[in-house]
Amino acid sequence: MTNIAHDEVKAARKAHVCDWCNEAIEIGKPYVRQRNKDGRDVWTWRAHPECSKAASTLDSFDLEMVAGETMTRGCTCPKGSGDGDYCDHRGMPAEKAKAAGGVA
Ligand SMILES: [Zn+2]
Ligand SMILES: [Zn+2]
Repeated sequence: MTNIAHDEVKAARKAHVCDWCNEAIEIGKPYVRQRNKDGRDVWTWRAHPECSKAASTLDSFDLEMVAGETMTRGCTCPKGSGDGDYCDHRGMPAEKAKAAGGVA
């Protein structure tokens, strides 16, 4: 898979759904838009800035492992792996979350 474009959109003109956490990207909110290519397939991946940051910490092997899964917003854990919608890393100080393998 090749990333052919990476745009940081300052304000969404249309409502989208985050491809990482499945939560809404509201109109007027920033998001990250990525164009990916795999063989002949080209698709657009959209995510909250914090979700894009979380995704960027995974290598392509890990990303393939989680493809199709709904992840925790802003983190690299599958959704529901912690309390409710949030994983164990959420709300932790950055240092602690980092030590636990998450993304602050
Ligand atoms: Zn998201
Ligand atoms: Zn997490």
